[in-house]
Amino acid sequence: MSLQGKTAVITGSNSGIGLGVARELARAGADVVLNSFTDRDEDHALAAELAREFSVNAQYIQADMSKGADCRSLIEQAGACDILVNNAGIQHVAPIDAFPQDKWDAIIAINMNSNFHTMAAALPGMRASGWGRIVNIASAHGLTASPFKAAYVAAKHGVVGMTKTVALETAEDPITCNAICPGYVLTPLVEAQIPDTMEKYNMGREEVIKKVMLERQPSREFATVEQLGGTTVFLCSDAAAQITGTTLSVDGGWTAL
Ligand code: NAD
Repeated sequence: MSLQGKTAVITGSNSGIGLGVARELARAGADVVLNSFTDRDEDHALAAELAREFSVNAQYIQADMSKGADCRSLIEQAGACDILVNNAGIQHVAPIDAFPQDKWDAIIAINMNSNFHTMAAALPGMRASGWGRIVNIASAHGLTASPFKAAYVAAKHGVVGMTKTVALETAEDPITCNAICPGYVLTPLVEAQIPDTMEKYNMGREEVIKKVMLERQPSREFATVEQLGGTTVFLCSDAAAQITGTTLSVDGGWTAL
């Protein structure tokens, strides 16, 4: 399928799932807008690389998804936003009575509130152009819980609820709004959790991966960023035009348990 002529804005896309999704959208012909809160040469170089590899327009826009005004200005600066992928996210793991308030605030702002601001800013343009796709990268933790992840689980459940609401508000427009719920994907966010988990369980890296991290993922395999990109491209296809307000799990069976 071709997404030629469409512009995709992917929040938090200078690494991990966001970059993987941007690559697959570019491979499908979409112009892409990469984003994160940094403004380094290497961020802009990522966009140049995608433009070269897939012969699409690509730009990198610095905007901090913890700030509502930045979320809205990202959409404005992008010029067009036919496809919005809300992907920026962070994690912090602690029991609720020891959960630092600044971490709670940051997770709720970046993982959930940013979706509100970008969707509010992007929808008028989608309605005007007569086509739009919103894909919110939630999580298996948008459907189930794990201990020590109160802020993350709250934010991701919030994203799933917001996705359904926006789908109903846009149901009569040629716009869809869905959430993808990945299980464990090996990205820098997950990589950063490995040393702590190894220490906590007194296990080596491979043992922690198979026995602890993938314990709830029946396939015992990480999902890949390419698979999440492919799922996003599918949700942007004509075949998915009547899929709206739902969650699509890419979790090796986690939420079937
Ligand atoms: P990652 O750390 O590789 O990527 C996170 C991205 O968000 C980075 O590009 C980072 O720069 C960006 N970001 C962080 N704070 C930001 C801010 N204030 N403003 C703008 N950008 C910001 O992690 P990832 O695993 O690729 O996570 C991407 C998304 O996928 C997150 O929403 C995460 O919750 C979700 N997710 C990940 C997994 C997994 O196993 N990796 C599973 C389920 C859901």
